[in-house]
Amino acid sequence: MTSDDTISAISTAIGEGGIGIVRISGSKAIAIADELFTSRSGKRAEAILSHQAVYGNIIDPENNEIIDEAIVLIMWAPRSYTREDIVEIHCHGGPVPLRRILDLTLRLGARMAEPGEFTKRAFLNGRLDLAQAEAVMDVIRAKTDASLKVAVGNLSGRLSEQVKSIRQSVLGMIAQLEAAIDFPEDDIEEATAADVAKLINQVKSQLASLLATAQTGRILREGLATVIIGKPNVGKSSLLNALLREKRAIVTDIPGTTRDIIEEYVNIRGIPLRIIDTAGIRDTADVVEKIGVEKAKELVSQADLILLLLDWSAPLSSEDRSVLELLSDRRAIVLINKSDLPPKLELAEVERYSEGRLVLKISVAQGEGLAELEQAIADIVYSGQVGQGEAAFVNNLRHADALRQANDRLADAMATIAAGMPPDCIVVDLRAAWEKLGEVTGDTVGEDIIDQIFSQFCIGK
Ligand code: GDP
Repeated sequence: MTSDDTISAISTAIGEGGIGIVRISGSKAIAIADELFTSRSGKRAEAILSHQAVYGNIIDPENNEIIDEAIVLIMWAPRSYTREDIVEIHCHGGPVPLRRILDLTLRLGARMAEPGEFTKRAFLNGRLDLAQAEAVMDVIRAKTDASLKVAVGNLSGRLSEQVKSIRQSVLGMIAQLEAAIDFPEDDIEEATAADVAKLINQVKSQLASLLATAQTGRILREGLATVIIGKPNVGKSSLLNALLREKRAIVTDIPGTTRDIIEEYVNIRGIPLRIIDTAGIRDTADVVEKIGVEKAKELVSQADLILLLLDWSAPLSSEDRSVLELLSDRRAIVLINKSDLPPKLELAEVERYSEGRLVLKISVAQGEGLAELEQAIADIVYSGQVGQGEAAFVNNLRHADALRQANDRLADAMATIAAGMPPDCIVVDLRAAWEKLGEVTGDTVGEDIIDQIFSQFCIGK
């Protein structure tokens, strides 16, 4: 699948910066560098050592115009990210010099890289497996330190190693069963099946512990979709502003949208809280009244967590009750705000309506109870887990799906054994599990899926 054309792209973010980088990869990369770069010492790119930075000028060979000063870094194949010859041109980080240099590389025989194509080549040439390649994007898009830690762990192969080792065990079982098929005596077959059943149970428990990280992993990668609801004037926008003021994580454009939709993240002990419908809250609109019950229901149904606000200084109203009813079976924390004011609310009634959910008294105005709220959120997300430590994390839906399906195929194999079926039937189930595990690392995945994964990357990665 490796193509022998040479690709080029601006690899740094567009905008003004101290430096910017145009990256070229492929068999013509060095020849292109030779044509557009003149080092101070007159050294040709061909003569530049691998991984050595050389200072000089980028010159348009057509008219000898100096486009910019630059440092050129050559990484000879196979000691490079893509395992091909790579040239990085570090010029000044303005859109015009970068664009001019990119155009020059295209004129000299490179073609524009597709989104994620450098990393795709790294994958196709065996520099990274698929889970590691996906982790590259997770590192770039990490929202908090905790998300970064998980992403870097996966980039270093932490998840891949575990999946590969489970896969190896499954292969071992297949070999054992196939050996038994060659000795078709019933007692050998039975003993082998019993052995394999034990091994399957071991592997299933390894898979279960990996899958147990999936929810936290997904939240660390994508954020905890959170909605703040409550009747007007209960303190929704005050709470949001307090969180953003103290804990703002990052503001990003949502990839793939053309309009300027902004997502704001709040960093709660490493958990990126993504507040849904920030605009609606900011307008201090009554979510239920202004946008309608249907929309409020929709927001609630999209959320991983609902923060429901009540007012300590007012009795529970029918509005409050209708908001409480929106929760149905969703995960929510009930916050009684304005605890600094004289009480009018009946706690017992609130608890009755809250159906066993955590009820916390807070005062956004006084900054009281917010630490308890943070702790409660962290407890929900990290529930029963050892934090991000050194463990492998499943942080991606594709991986979780493949692991779950592998687990199902192993359950099939157990059922096949229990039904006393012959070894070749067990092998069929185990092979299916083996294939599914291979989807995580990309060993058994179709080109269409590979293309789809890399198309979500940005250009230049
Ligand atoms: P929203 O309509 O739910 O977004 O409510 P706001 O955040 O706009 O707050 C409504 C009013 O309540 C504002 O005047 C806030 O200053 C006030 N408020 C918010 N939180 C508290 C609190 O903890 N204590 C007191 N006394 N007032 C608060």
